[in-house]
Amino acid sequence: MLARLTRWWRGPSGGEAFADGEWAALAARLPLLEGWSAEDLDRLRVLAGDFLRRKVVQGAGGLEVDDAMRRLVAVQACVPVLHLGLDWYSGWVSVIVYPDEFVARQEWVDEDGVAHEVERELSGEAWPEGPAILSWTDVELGADGEDWGNVVVHEMAHKLDLLNGEANGMPPLHAGMSRSAWTAAFSSAFEDFSERVERGEEVLIDDYAADDPGEFFAVMSEAFFLHPRDVREAYPEVYGQLEAFYRQDPGLRLGP
Ligand SMILES: [Zn+2]
Repeated sequence: MLARLTRWWRGPSGGEAFADGEWAALAARLPLLEGWSAEDLDRLRVLAGDFLRRKVVQGAGGLEVDDAMRRLVAVQACVPVLHLGLDWYSGWVSVIVYPDEFVARQEWVDEDGVAHEVERELSGEAWPEGPAILSWTDVELGADGEDWGNVVVHEMAHKLDLLNGEANGMPPLHAGMSRSAWTAAFSSAFEDFSERVERGEEVLIDDYAADDPGEFFAVMSEAFFLHPRDVREAYPEVYGQLEAFYRQDPGLRLGP
């Protein structure tokens, strides 16, 4: 009964959310999908259809979200979980989209127990067990490759990281993966990266990644999917860990 109910709630599985022509246009638009095999693209199409049945993508701040916009969010959101499945996005339902960057109030308590509150302009945010929030301007910039990164992939990486508590840069690892190998790879890369940023060196990814290990994982995930060769070259151990976690090797898609 439960299985049947679950199936009913999720609706039929399939790619019918995307008509053929529409899907082809979307796939051709996104640099994120460059070099993908027909098999992976089919899988993504089905997954993105399921995403739209399970999640609510809605506008805020006066933005009206139509189906084409929902599809653009869904396709990008499903790239990280292509070989993990949508259950990795469980525990939250909505994606809220603002027209542009939005102001978020962030509160935290420092080591001395003093509470701080700041307002920041954000292009995206992921709440623990709450919504993912996106700026539409940035969703489009990322989709069209006009931006270095991809805000949807970034926030989804935070969502995966949040599955086991805080966004601390370590999502739940698969059986056979080693927590110490993950930590070793990421901490030495984070340290190296932060030092380069401090020295004012030109760095391969957004220097925002030096904020904390959680941001580093999210930005590295963007780089892994968009600029896999750069990550593989600069931080091969991190690349290996991300490959094992996401169960994808984006570097392969770009050929030798
Ligand atoms: Zn972030």
